[in-house]
Amino acid sequence: MGINISAYRDIKKNLDDHKVELIAVSKTKPVEDILELYQLGQRDFGENYVQELVEKAEKLPKDIRWHFIGHLQTNKVKLIAPFVQLIHGVDSLKLLKEISKQGAKCNRVIDCLLQVHIAKEETKFGFDEEELRLVMDQLEVQGMTNVQIAGLMGMASFTEDMQLVKAEFQKLKALFDQYPQLSILSMGMSSDYKIAVSEKSNMVRIGSLLFGQRV
Ligand SMILES: *Cc1c(COP(=O)(O)O)cnc(C)c1O
Repeated sequence: MGINISAYRDIKKNLDDHKVELIAVSKTKPVEDILELYQLGQRDFGENYVQELVEKAEKLPKDIRWHFIGHLQTNKVKLIAPFVQLIHGVDSLKLLKEISKQGAKCNRVIDCLLQVHIAKEETKFGFDEEELRLVMDQLEVQGMTNVQIAGLMGMASFTEDMQLVKAEFQKLKALFDQYPQLSILSMGMSSDYKIAVSEKSNMVRIGSLLFGQRV
């Protein structure tokens, strides 16, 4: 139990030097641990489950910026639309439309990242290169006024093969560079964030290195 303070300081310093934003992934961890990190100055936290995010947000300081990083179901968008800072894993046009609709209801423009499928595994969600192009081309036509595509997000293969991870991050960075209007590239987690940073990620999502292993 408890957070790893020295790991936080080291990681934070390293990321600051590279101008990379740190999202502390607190899924399954208690509010006490989140508060501990908050007291060290951390404000951006990431959660994967809507219910858990809503409950934690109610209990914790209001200046925390909550990132939704999991797979979001359309019927749950309305629960986080009033306060979410950034939705990282948008993987369908249908979801994007619902986010815009719910954003309109609470008079917000909600920032989103489109998730791109870069891993070898079939199970990872996300658009491929062609689907991404289609979505980006359709944005204006679709009249989605209350959603903003701020960037891309991707997860590398779960593997020991760091050459493969590196190649996957390079692929995502190359795609990102095709859309100069985008500003956020969310890639890298505990096991691969150093590679992600060297491949020019500007936002990493780190959980277990800060909070310890999840059970
Ligand atoms: C859980 C999770 C993370 C953090 O994983 P760690 O390996 O604990 O750093 C990052 N991104 C997503 C999408 C996650 O679901």
